[in-house]
Order: sequence, then C-alpha cells, then structure tokens
Amino acid sequence: MHRSIVLLSASLITLTANAASAQNATPRNLILFVPDGLRGRIVTPQTAPAMAEVRDKGVNFRNSHSLFPTFTMANGSAMASGHYLGDTGTFSNTIYTGYSSGPAGDTVVPFIENDAVLGDIDEHFSGDYLNEETILKMARAKGFSTAAIGKLGPTLLFDHTDRGKNTIVIDDSTGGKTGVPLSDEMKEALTKANLPLVTTPRGDNSKAGDAKTPGTTSANVAQQAYMADVAAKVVLPMFKARNKPFVLVFWSRDPDGSQHNTGDSLNTITPGINGPTSMAGIRNADNNLAQLRKALDELGLAASTNIMISSDHGFSTISKESKTSPSAKISYDDTPKDFLPMGFLAIDLAKALNLPLFDPNNKNAAVADNAHPRAGNGVLGKDPTKPDLVVATNGGSDLIYIPGKDRKLADRTIKALLEQDYVSGLFVDDELGNFPGTLPMSQLGLKGKAVTPHPQIVVNFRSWSSGCESRPIARCRLRIPSCARARACMAVFPAAIR
Ligand SMILES: [Zn+2]
Repeated sequence: MHRSIVLLSASLITLTANAASAQNATPRNLILFVPDGLRGRIVTPQTAPAMAEVRDKGVNFRNSHSLFPTFTMANGSAMASGHYLGDTGTFSNTIYTGYSSGPAGDTVVPFIENDAVLGDIDEHFSGDYLNEETILKMARAKGFSTAAIGKLGPTLLFDHTDRGKNTIVIDDSTGGKTGVPLSDEMKEALTKANLPLVTTPRGDNSKAGDAKTPGTTSANVAQQAYMADVAAKVVLPMFKARNKPFVLVFWSRDPDGSQHNTGDSLNTITPGINGPTSMAGIRNADNNLAQLRKALDELGLAASTNIMISSDHGFSTISKESKTSPSAKISYDDTPKDFLPMGFLAIDLAKALNLPLFDPNNKNAAVADNAHPRAGNGVLGKDPTKPDLVVATNGGSDLIYIPGKDRKLADRTIKALLEQDYVSGLFVDDELGNFPGTLPMSQLGLKGKAVTPHPQIVVNFRSWSSGCESRPIARCRLRIPSCARARACMAVFPAAIR
C-alpha cells in the first residue's frame, strides 16, 4: 500500500511578521515549517487551528503550488535551493543515477530519502549532487545559527554537504547507523533536557499494510513529539543563548506519512485520505507548530521570528485499476485481480517495446512472466548493465530514462504510453524534439544544469474527481469527467494548464 496513494500538488504558504519591522536592519529569525503532503484547502480553524491562525493573521500566498506534484525530494530540493528541478537534478524520490549506489542496495535507481544514499550520491557527483547552494548553507555563511529537524531525506537536503558539522540535523536516522552525527554540544543539551540521543521510531504509523491488511490508524505522534521537543526545549533555547539570528527548518512527516499508510480504506478510494487517520496526521503537524510558537513566546523570540508554512505538495487517493494495461491482466500473488501490480509501467513498456525486463532492485534478475519488479523500477534492454530504457517508479508520476537518447525508441515509447488509460500528461526532453500529444520538459523547469541524468520522458498518471463537493477552479480545463473539482484539477502539472 506504500505506493497506493499518490501525492498531488497543492501547497500553502503563509507568513507571519509580528512586528512591523520591515525597515529594521536587524536580521530576523526564520522558521520554515513544512507539513509534508498537506492539502492547503483542508486547513480550517477546526482541522488545523494553529496553521489557520498563522494564515488568517499573517500573509496568505493564495496561488502557490508545488513545482512538481507528488514528490517530497523534488519539491524539497527546490525549497532548499530556490532552483527548479532541472538544476537540482532531484527529479523525484527515486531517480536514475547512472551508477549503482551501494547504500541504496546496489541499484541504479536509488530511493533518495536516506542520509547514506544522499551522501553516496554527493560523493559520486563531486561532493555535491545538488550543485546549488542551499539556504541553510548560505545562512550559516552569514553567521546565522541553523538547524533542520524532521523527516528523513528533505531534512538533510537543506545542508546536505555539511552533514551535521555546523547545521544541527535531527531526522528519523539520528542516533542510528546511517544517521548524521550529533555534535557534543547537542548531545550534552539533549541529555540535560532529558531527551534521548536517538530519534523515537514511528511505531505503528510506519505500518503500510498491503492488499490484504489495512495500514496504520495512528498518526506519527510519538516521533514528532520527540522532534518538536528537541526544537522547543533544546534548539530554540540554544539559539537564543547564542544571541545570533537563526534559521530553523521543521519538516513534519505528517500528514504525508499517515496519508500514505492510512488503514482507513483497504482497496477502496473512499474515505481514502479524508479518513480519520489522515485528519489525525494533519492535527499532529498542527500541534507541533503550536508547540514551536509557544516556545517562541516563552523565549521572547516571537516578535523577531518569521514563520513560513508551506507544504511541499498536496495529496490524493489513487485507484489501481486499468482496462488497458497488459500488466493488469496477469495474476500476481500480492495483487488483487484486475489491479495494476507494482511496476506496471515497466511491465507494459517491456511488452510494447519487445525488450527484456530486469529488476534493478533484485541484482538485475530477469523478471518472470507472472512476477513484477520488487520496487516497481525496471531496466529494459538486452544487457541490464547497459539498458536501452530505465523506469524509475515513484507513484503519481514516473520517470523514463533513455540513456542512449534514441529518438526512435522515445517515439515508440510515447506511442505505447498514449494507448494506456492511466496516462495523462507526457513531458519529453526538449533535445529529442517534438512528439504529438506531449509537452516539452522545459515547460516544467525540468531542463537545466543538473549533474544527475535528466529523464527523457515524465509520465503523469491520470486523475479524476470522485465527488463534486469542492468548488471548481475556473482554470481547470483538462479532460476531467463530470466536474472540474479543485483536487482533480490540481492533479495535473499546473504549469501545463496555464
Ligand atoms: Zn512530501
């Protein structure tokens, strides 16, 4: 079920400036609070009172949206650096690196929400795979105190080349084998505050479930209580004592983690992410924000600190059915009948292109006819070490790499994709030329000076509305059955519909 829910674009940005000090030359402090996967419009005084208050009393950026719907690392790279993904090379959560990453399990398609994997990719690409300055790196160069606390992956990204030497980093891996080390100062301060040196695990919230077993019904409360305590009781007092300005990033895994793993609707799309578990995840993130604000008040820092709240992307429930996919007509041990299996895109393309399919998450073993690749990724071609085509599976959209930049192969791939009912937008590398039914990748900011390989095709999966209760958006004019509802509209790359 981990991939059974897809994230969509909808972000909220609000800002508070408590004192009218725009003219004041004194540097202000900043807290960037990211409720991962939060749909902006679900925030009300009832669902998320702390966020609603900041929005309603502060500045509300009503037209903000994610740069790349659905993926944490992609949007995190933009939030950390101010650059489009074409520059950051962080095209999704799973990317093709062109070399086999050991810490990711010896695969060319690593899942990069992992500190060891990020370190490995940095090392491979001359010490800095992002190849852009990050805001925490710039802030500490200007004498600010800096910290990043929260979800594994995006948290480290904000100062990934420093790896905890100057910027305080607390994420899921802190205190574990692959975690970024704590400084002696932090260890001492945590101990003094009676807080463990190891991050509290997610516990029940990490249970993703599967096609037979529902996932979790608990929000990520215990882990985030630890992180919020570290921020409120250790980091903010430490920053105050230093008497220097600071930047703190707090990346709340909720509601994203609870929405992914929700056990509220097994193999059905309702209530999906509108169920009680997701709502508890939203409230959990909101409680963390309230705790940070209370700490600022108590420390006398509220008037000198701006708080910016922005989700990285929104979220939507996914349906796994398809009438056209050859992969859905095969039966698998772990997939309900007529449902798309993990790796459906790789399986369908292998058939359509008549290319052998290998599993990059299983030592490049050939994928048998009634099996699917373990993590959904696939390498296609006669020689898996020199693939003709690579599928990096992610969820709401997948990435296709054609390392040889073969235009004919791209053309055949696009034609095969356009026959599938699960395909919506297709975005193609400008260098390959124009293809009917697709848009150039540059329109999404996906072309740039990235040092990691650029994908040749981005496949956006189709979405539709399951109800009409939300107000429609006038700008939404794509093929959406029955009603143009906000959520469905947001499912499509915003840049493409302007
Ligand atoms: Zn996210």
